[in-house]
Amino acid sequence: MDIQKQAQLKLKQIALYQKCYSWSPCGKIENFLKQFDKPKWGVGETNIFILRAANRIGKTVTGCNIANYLCSPIGNKWLRDIKFFREFRRPNVGRIVTTKNAAETTYPQTIQEWFPRGQYFPHKNGRQFDSLFKFPNGSHFDIFTFERDTTEMESTHLDWVMIDEPMPYKFWTGVLSRLTYGGPIIFLFTALEGSGWIRSEIEKVERVNKDVFVQVVCAEDACIEHGIRGHLPHAYIENKTKNYDDDEQLARLSGGYISLSGMVYKNFAREYHVVSDLIPYWKECLDTGFYNIVNIVDPHPRKAFAIGWYYVFPNGDIVCFGEFPDDTYPPYHKIKSGDIKTEEYAQIIKDTESEFKQPVETRLMDPKQGHAPSEMGGDSIQKIMASKGLVYTDPSSSTINGHQAVKSLLGRPQDGQRPQLYFMDYCRNHIFSMENYAWKESKGLDANEKAETEFDDYADNMRYGALSGFKYFQPASKRGKQPKVWLPKSYRSKKE
Ligand SMILES: [Zn+2]
Repeated sequence: MDIQKQAQLKLKQIALYQKCYSWSPCGKIENFLKQFDKPKWGVGETNIFILRAANRIGKTVTGCNIANYLCSPIGNKWLRDIKFFREFRRPNVGRIVTTKNAAETTYPQTIQEWFPRGQYFPHKNGRQFDSLFKFPNGSHFDIFTFERDTTEMESTHLDWVMIDEPMPYKFWTGVLSRLTYGGPIIFLFTALEGSGWIRSEIEKVERVNKDVFVQVVCAEDACIEHGIRGHLPHAYIENKTKNYDDDEQLARLSGGYISLSGMVYKNFAREYHVVSDLIPYWKECLDTGFYNIVNIVDPHPRKAFAIGWYYVFPNGDIVCFGEFPDDTYPPYHKIKSGDIKTEEYAQIIKDTESEFKQPVETRLMDPKQGHAPSEMGGDSIQKIMASKGLVYTDPSSSTINGHQAVKSLLGRPQDGQRPQLYFMDYCRNHIFSMENYAWKESKGLDANEKAETEFDDYADNMRYGALSGFKYFQPASKRGKQPKVWLPKSYRSKKE
């Protein structure tokens, strides 16, 4: 083989197996890398670097290339040019903190794509996915997910930490205390719900450019036509501008912080989501038994329990058709304390359901209150309910994902996207809660990662349902033929 051919082959190999050599960040991410040389980096010093960015601009690819280079400096030009990265102490121990979903899907793919083949060794380390990565020089890092316990954060000494997506505040002290000898803490995120504490605790005016360094990257910065070394087609960005809801546009396209005040479900509107009659398709499903019933309870120590019943139909429609307190009580938000014992609630639920034609298949209860001791400090509410034959399970309680799931069910009827979530007009507590569920101006999603909201009780039930309960499955009690799945005319013609 002549020299030229050998050289070509070598280049091909580099392109294929050592993609990290060829990573070339867009202009604004290059600026982000330059921030690492800004602090003086005294002994044992920790500095924080924030890449607050639009969707799809290459956050995770940036994160993977930084992680790889920190562990073992395989020659990427952009990273080698930065003194901090070039001279970082090696071997070292790092950690990437991210969502379970990113750890299971995005990270394995991105690492496989960008890390140098044969120069790192992935291990499952007791998890379902590769969560520990070792390098021949002794460096290693692990991937830690948000749903783990805070105590698990406190196991090991770290030289660097990378946080991909808004991390719940509860891990923050753990992160700080792990960097015994100082080092960088790197935030990469789109500033959606859950990022409020990063703005109020870290991105403070008095800290920025002292121990906190911020780079904002908007979608156009990664545009092929309008950015520097961008990869997103301009048409793609334009198209996304149309699709994001008004609340999210700022965060998803410009990298700004989502506004956390005002109504949570802005796409809820009585004219689209409140119905006084069942549509013929729902009636047909009820007649033939092709539907499920979901019951969701949000119990409270002082207020009354907020209880709802929901139909789930084969076409994915959800209809809220029952609630407690019903209209024989004053409106829920005016009931100050519940003098009703858990056993009595069980009876109320059973009495209500005795009038249903079909048994309730799914029962969900607020996971926190559901396991708390009942009014007199005895067994948990779930335990008492179970002893009365009402078995509840824990829904996923993620506020962020839950809001997204409910918004998605509400659709964008103003733009012609049909809702899948409806409320019978007599379910006035649900309707009131959907209309008034709002972020409090001062707090937003703050330190405790709990929405500081009012009138959240029934809206919480919707969140639990949308995440964990509103999925149709063929009921055992079905009779006859399944009604033809119904779609509105406008939707039908679009699909055909
Ligand atoms: Zn553009």
